[in-house]
Amino acid sequence: LVLAACGQAQPVDSGQTDAAAIKLRSDQDKVYVGFVMDTLQEARWYRDKEYFEKKVIELGGNVKSLAANQDAEVQIQQAELLIKEGVDVLVVIPTDSIASGKIVEMAHAAGIQVISYDKMILQADVDYYVSFDNHKVGQLQAQYVVDQVKTGRYAYVGGSPSDNNAKLVRDGSFEVLQPLIDNGSIEIVYDQLTEHWSGDIAREQIQAYLANNGEPFDAIVTAYDGLARGALEAIGSQAGKIPISGQDAELEALRRIVAGTQTMTVYKSLPLIAQSAAQLAVEVGMGGTPSAVDQTVDNGQKQVPSILLEPVAVTKDNIEQTVVKDGHYMKEEIYQSN
Ligand code: BGC
Repeated sequence: LVLAACGQAQPVDSGQTDAAAIKLRSDQDKVYVGFVMDTLQEARWYRDKEYFEKKVIELGGNVKSLAANQDAEVQIQQAELLIKEGVDVLVVIPTDSIASGKIVEMAHAAGIQVISYDKMILQADVDYYVSFDNHKVGQLQAQYVVDQVKTGRYAYVGGSPSDNNAKLVRDGSFEVLQPLIDNGSIEIVYDQLTEHWSGDIAREQIQAYLANNGEPFDAIVTAYDGLARGALEAIGSQAGKIPISGQDAELEALRRIVAGTQTMTVYKSLPLIAQSAAQLAVEVGMGGTPSAVDQTVDNGQKQVPSILLEPVAVTKDNIEQTVVKDGHYMKEEIYQSN
C-alpha cells in the first residue's frame, strides 16, 4: 500500500475484529473522515489534500488521506483499510470510474456513505458528488482556441480513458467545435485520449502522428496543462505560433501562458472544491443533512445529489485577477522564470 499521509487518526489496527463497530478514532466524539485519493503525482492533488484536511480539522473532525498511485486495486484496498479503521464517511477520488464502484459497495455494507470527489464513480449507488462543471471546462477550452483560429487543422488531445471527466470535458469541447466541423471551417485531424493524463504519453502520440502525416496543426485543444506540455514538446518550433488550451492552472502552465507558448488554462479553485467537500463530509459523517447540495448528476445508475462549482478561463490578461487574487500562486512565482 502507498500510505501518503496520516491525519489525526490513530495507526491502523492489524487485528481481525469487526472494526466498523469499534471506531479506532483518537477521539470518539469527533467525526472521522477518510479521504481516498487517486494520486499525488500531479501538482494539484497535494493542494486538494492540504485544503481538505485543514478544513475537516477546522470543522472539528479527524481525517486520514491515502493515495493509490493510480492503481485501482490499491485504491480498493486502501478504502477497505479506512472502513475497517472505522471512518464515518469516505470521500473518494476514483482511480477508475467503474472499478471504484466496489468501494461504494464495501462502504455501504459497513453503513458508511460515500462522496465522489472531482471525478464521478459510475454505475454505483454513490451518495454525493462534488466537482466542477466539467462540461463547461471543455467549452471554455475549445471556445478560447476557436476565438483565435477559425479555420484549419485541429488536434484534440484528451484525458484518461478511465476518467469520466475526460469524457465530459471532451463533450463540452466538441459542442463548440462541432458546428465548425459541420460547416467545413475546421478539420479534426488528430483526436486521441491519453492514458493517465500523461504529458509524456501525449507527446509520444502526437510525435507518432506527425511522423506519419507531416502536416502541422493550426490549433490544439488539450484537456489539461500536462497534456499541453506534451503537445508543445511534440510540435517543437511551432510552439508559440498556434493556440493551445489546458486545465488546472499549474504553475508551469501559468509560466507558459505568460511566455506565450500556452494560450489558456482553466482554473478550478482548489480551496473551493476541497472545502466544499470537507464541509459536506463532516455534515454527512455526523448524520446531518447536507446544506450546499442543490442539484443531481446522472452516474448511469442514479441521480447523484451534487455540488457543481464554476470553472474559470485564465489567460495572460486575467492571471492576476484570478489565480493570483485567489492565492493559488504568487505573481512573483509565475513571472519569475521569464
Ligand atoms: C480533473 C482535472 C485534472 C485531471 C488530471 C481530472 O479528473 O478533473 O482537474 O486535470 O483529472 O489530473
